[in-house]
Amino acid sequence: MSLLEVKNLKTYYYTLRGAVRAVDNVSLTLQKGEVLGIAGESGCGKSTLAWSLIGYVPPPGRIVDGNILIDGKDIAKMDEAALRKEIRWKKVSMIFQGAMNALTPVFTIEDQLAEPLIVHKGYTKEEAREEIIKLLKAVGLDESFLKRYPHELSGGQKQRIVIAMALILHPDLVIADEPTTALDVIVQAQIMNLFKEVKKKYNIGMIFITHDLSIIAEIADKVAIMYAGKIIEFGTSDQVFLNPQHPYTQGLLKSIPRIRSKEKISWIPGVPPDLVRPPAGCRFHPRCPYAMDICRREEPPLLEVEPGHYVACHLIAGKGGKK
Ligand code: SF4
Repeated sequence: MSLLEVKNLKTYYYTLRGAVRAVDNVSLTLQKGEVLGIAGESGCGKSTLAWSLIGYVPPPGRIVDGNILIDGKDIAKMDEAALRKEIRWKKVSMIFQGAMNALTPVFTIEDQLAEPLIVHKGYTKEEAREEIIKLLKAVGLDESFLKRYPHELSGGQKQRIVIAMALILHPDLVIADEPTTALDVIVQAQIMNLFKEVKKKYNIGMIFITHDLSIIAEIADKVAIMYAGKIIEFGTSDQVFLNPQHPYTQGLLKSIPRIRSKEKISWIPGVPPDLVRPPAGCRFHPRCPYAMDICRREEPPLLEVEPGHYVACHLIAGKGGKK
């Protein structure tokens, strides 16, 4: 059984202008011990997808349709009380964007890390302290951090604490939404190395949400590229990075600066569409240099171009991609 199976998920925000189709018919699977990177421009629906996976979509959003199977249980159909009791932090935990700035300033690191152990597992303070010391070591900190307050820590140290929090109840899946955005490049690299160590040590599934493809290039086993609420390319890291087939993925990769390459950096002209009224057919067609008539009329299906590598583009359908 897969650790995570998402089937035809739709998550919309109901606004006065109409429904914003932030996640629109998304399907994916993740196995235990695998790392999935989800990338795309801001506003493509990747954070909404992550929130859906822990059953927490901020209002006016909600899951409209589809299934999210975690260990065989459909969390899209669970109520808030069941999600809190059975799923969040125990099965799936999330490192929210900017979470390191949300540490409670008046509590010590020990108090903040002990709470879930005391509340969810019934640990005594002493038992919790032992567990926290082990976890601090796992994220590269020592027990001198127990009595410190968040303002006494650097950005990198705070992010290590946030990672420790996400691991405290030993979940099967950790979702990290832009976990290195606010950090300088050196600390970014340290934190990504820490994630690699955590993956090896705990053999958990991880999902990284990012607008920066270079962040996931080294760590992800699989990569999903999102555009305007849909997955438009999905495959192993090698397939997506070395053999990108969708014009949007190709454009994203060409926009990453490469020190040793003589190729000029380019960019994708235009802006992502309004998800209240997305373009008909292929949602990328107003920005695509290869757009054809069919692209303006019909939505391209996600087709398999090689084992495990899927692309939603009419160019692929013309080359004989399989459903
Ligand atoms: Fe471009 Fe058409 Fe492919 Fe969309 S379906 S990416 S518009 S060629």
